[in-house]
Amino acid sequence: MSLSYGRDHVAIPGPSVIPDRVLRAMHRPAPNIYEGDLIDLSDTIYRDLPRLAGTEGNAVIYIGNGHAAWEAAIANMFAPGDTALVLSTGRFALGWAEMARRLGVEIETLDFGFRAAFDPAKVSAHLSADKAHKIRAILTVQTDTASSAMNDLAALRRAIDAADHPALLMVDSIASFACEPMEMDKWGVDVLVAGCQKGLMTPPGIAFNFVGPRAWAERRPCASTYWDWASRIEPEWHYQRFCGTSPTHHLYGLREALDMIDEEGLPNTLLRHERLARAVWVAVESWGQAGGIELNIAAPAERSRAVTTLRSDPGDAAKLRAWCEETTGLVLGLGLPAPNVPRGSLFRIGHMGHLNAPMLLGALATIEAGLGSLGIPHAPGGAQAALQTLSTAPAEDLRIAETREKMSGARAATV
Ligand SMILES: *Cc1c(COP(=O)(O)O)cnc(C)c1O
Repeated sequence: MSLSYGRDHVAIPGPSVIPDRVLRAMHRPAPNIYEGDLIDLSDTIYRDLPRLAGTEGNAVIYIGNGHAAWEAAIANMFAPGDTALVLSTGRFALGWAEMARRLGVEIETLDFGFRAAFDPAKVSAHLSADKAHKIRAILTVQTDTASSAMNDLAALRRAIDAADHPALLMVDSIASFACEPMEMDKWGVDVLVAGCQKGLMTPPGIAFNFVGPRAWAERRPCASTYWDWASRIEPEWHYQRFCGTSPTHHLYGLREALDMIDEEGLPNTLLRHERLARAVWVAVESWGQAGGIELNIAAPAERSRAVTTLRSDPGDAAKLRAWCEETTGLVLGLGLPAPNVPRGSLFRIGHMGHLNAPMLLGALATIEAGLGSLGIPHAPGGAQAALQTLSTAPAEDLRIAETREKMSGARAATV
């Protein structure tokens, strides 16, 4: 007998749960790629995406995963011999930097460890020492998916400006896009990288660059026809939007996902992520009262709203993941290798995208059952504590109800 039969639940930090609506939108025959609906549909996606990034700039869409969008951003912003300053708060900025290094970019690194966000004051000091303005751009992440640290990008931009340094700011928001606020223009983010399979609820396969006005003006000549922003942003004909055949079915899926976010209202989407994340923190803090398990990021202001990394005694995280999957069908995120952390002592809960309270509470209660079954030290009651935080509705939630009402009013009017 196993309790794992039923609908699978992946609580990993991407790919995230795919809504039935998105799956249905993709379930169709091959479309005409030269004219008609698909062309109009991809134009609406190009039009609508920048709003999610908080920019008046342009979106560029690539067929590829997040790593492809990393490479695209490097290929357009750097020439060999340029220098980038990398701010590491886990693993992902380092991965992006390694890719840049292999493309000929000189890398300077400020490493803030695995358990905290970056410190803007240290960045400011480093930039002030760069009198010759050798550093062309900063590479960093909004949420580091390995550590679950979330960085304050507005504070970073203030730190760059305080050092009176012209560095461009390039940010990977693959984990956090449509989960955490993003205000590219307001915060002075010049290039933003995102993907479709996390907050955007679409199967992995397309990824994005967002290009602010300064990045557009100061881009390098792109050696690669494929990655070049220019022909994709200003195509002579649609075929150039994707430098070849468009990702036909992905576009239908993504359009549906964007419509879902529109219907919920982006501020409500962000608020939902905020509340679900807080429920996770409350659960883990409650379990941790007996030791044995804790949040990787101690400071609430530095925690991601899309993913949470947990630490256990060595081996316990691995045992718990195996128990949850084999016994109950809940898939938890693997802990990525981290410095000075023994194997099998980290795991991650993804809480991004198409996720509501019962899905999250189910995952938390299942984890608690696993902790109990395996005899991992913890204080029982974490899932109950999470439930309590979700049952007290703060004032902002009224906005969600209001939007729903408006939406259903609008629908009724069109029927
Ligand atoms: C998921 C993720 C990536 C990698 O995306 P892929 O689609 O797996 O290539 C890069 N950066 C961050 C912050 C991520 O969360």
